[in-house]
Amino acid sequence: MTSPAPSIAAPTAPVAADKEAHKPSNFLRQIIEKDLAEGTYASRRWGGSPGDAAHHAAGQPDAAKVRMRFPPEPNGYLHVGHAKSICLNFGLARDYGGVCHLRFDDTNPEKEDTEYVDSIKDAVQWLGFDWHNHGETNLYQASDYFDFMYRAAEYLIEAGHAYVDEQSADEMRQNRGDFGHPGTDSPFRSRTPAENLARFREMRDGQLPDGAAVLRAKIDMASPNINLRDPAIYRIRRAHHHNTGDKWCIYPMYTYAHPIEDALEQITHSICTLEFEDQRPFYDWLLDRLAEQTTLPDGQVVGGLIATPHPRQYEFARLNLTYVLTSKRKLAQLVNENRVNGWDDPRMPTIVGLRRRGYTPESLQLFAERIGVTKSDSWIDYSTLEGCLRETLDGSAPRAMAVLDPVKLVLTNWDDVMGAGTLDDCSAPIHPHHPELGKRDFKIGKEVWIDRGDYEEIPPKGFFRLFPPHVNASKQAMAGSKVRLKYGHVIECTGAVKDADGKVIEVHATLIPDTKSGTPGADSVKVKGVITWVAVADAVPAEVRLYERLFREAQPEGGGVDFLTNLNADSLKVMTAYVEPSLASGGAIEAKADDKFQFERHGYFVADRVDHAAGKPVFNLAVGLKDSWGK
Ligand code: ATP
Ligand code: MG
Repeated sequence: MTSPAPSIAAPTAPVAADKEAHKPSNFLRQIIEKDLAEGTYASRRWGGSPGDAAHHAAGQPDAAKVRMRFPPEPNGYLHVGHAKSICLNFGLARDYGGVCHLRFDDTNPEKEDTEYVDSIKDAVQWLGFDWHNHGETNLYQASDYFDFMYRAAEYLIEAGHAYVDEQSADEMRQNRGDFGHPGTDSPFRSRTPAENLARFREMRDGQLPDGAAVLRAKIDMASPNINLRDPAIYRIRRAHHHNTGDKWCIYPMYTYAHPIEDALEQITHSICTLEFEDQRPFYDWLLDRLAEQTTLPDGQVVGGLIATPHPRQYEFARLNLTYVLTSKRKLAQLVNENRVNGWDDPRMPTIVGLRRRGYTPESLQLFAERIGVTKSDSWIDYSTLEGCLRETLDGSAPRAMAVLDPVKLVLTNWDDVMGAGTLDDCSAPIHPHHPELGKRDFKIGKEVWIDRGDYEEIPPKGFFRLFPPHVNASKQAMAGSKVRLKYGHVIECTGAVKDADGKVIEVHATLIPDTKSGTPGADSVKVKGVITWVAVADAVPAEVRLYERLFREAQPEGGGVDFLTNLNADSLKVMTAYVEPSLASGGAIEAKADDKFQFERHGYFVADRVDHAAGKPVFNLAVGLKDSWGK
């Protein structure tokens, strides 16, 4: 038995570095190349693990030329937008001799779940990337930095850069001003560092109720950038944290935590989506403050908390994909309300859903590369994603015949021509361009299954498949069509049997002798149509799940509507199909869970990772052969 191309089922390594040389440039590559050329980060040292300035100073010159990071919040399953970010960050690190950290951004208590942590690790590895690099394991969780974040907050207070504000949330909002109006200083803004420090420690020690006070950076209440109007950096929140338990009742705000996480990890290029562009000035302000040294009124020199040069943030446009939601929260809603069958439903744009649908790491890497990175938001057409899958499967997926909506075809002269009860041997290449993969064998007999749509009693114009003798619209008598059963014989359609409701239950045809594919004279009878089929004698029943887009509208929330109103009610059709026997146990292209195939004339299918079993095959439609959706 020949086995199919192994690359289709096995997890694959990322595209080899030598192929990367031809990648199109983009603004992020240009920034990195400039930094490398100028040696911006050449003097960096690495303490072997994340840490403060002293920790890294005691380390070695960093062998990693750049450090990137992918920092998901473990509050759901990753989606195709995250796949773009993973390919981008890990891909840039690989291409420029660096490393990429996987960091769980778990500074927000309550939301995290180990189920999500595990699924995120799986997703990154499945996509072909690894946080083990240069002998390091760069897998981190932001909550491990709480102690440093607290220390940095005390430092900011001592240096006069932060204060405890006890205004109510409403007062704070009002005093922030708006785009046209500067903010108003809080009455607490002029507290002394000593007062602030004492009060902040009371916050930490649980002496204030939730919401009674926040620690704010002291920057500029009149800044045209509202994010610089004394942003909150710590809040009181009595919540259990999955990592730190009940140690803390104050938690850092995301905008404060994130730059610090990057700095402790010695990240060089911190890439995020465009909505954080307005946060960049605060990112730099904070890291500048933590890096510099300050002389306190008592003459003491403090500061220099983080290594320099500190990380820089760069923004790129997030992925918006037509017919798709890219928000963990909204995807969670689909799951929780049972609108889909779980996070890995093949209609979901989650990485687990795409994988179950038949997407491969190569297809998603190709997609990420093809869409590139830009600085302005736009929508990518879903067909771009599908095209990448088609392209990566075409060269490797074994071919097979399948009849998705079966109706029986009876070759009425079979017994006379071939002999009663005879089955004839047929074969086909496993892959038309890879003869070395060998052949698949199957039988043909008196009865075969064909697709219902391949027969028309009165053929519409341009229909070249099965139709019986009939009188056409111009009142001409037409003969029954002659059609080739692919890899088999030419047949001539003679009619059909219908049930009481007029539904075709059997199509009849006669076999034209000496026309079998691959035999001398096979082409003596010219045909315009070729159809796929499987013999009743050896066909294997299979469940085939046909998927369509989950939403009817390209922009599921376009015009501000609730995406639920745009759910496509017909996004799943389950067919009781027949497939050729070579897909069964012991067959030349035996289907194992996750294996991909091209069902000839139908599209690419994958043996369902969850439900497929040797005795009970289940195939999912991954993508059609052509981009015909909506046409
Ligand atoms: P969600 O709203 O789905 O939770 P998020 O941005 O809050 O998305 P995170 O877990 O915080 O999700 O994101 C981890 C990383 O993935 C971030 O660096 C973020 O920029 C990136 N990312 C998330 N969504 C997209 C997207 N649609 N396109 C590109 N990158 C994305
Ligand atoms: Mg988020």
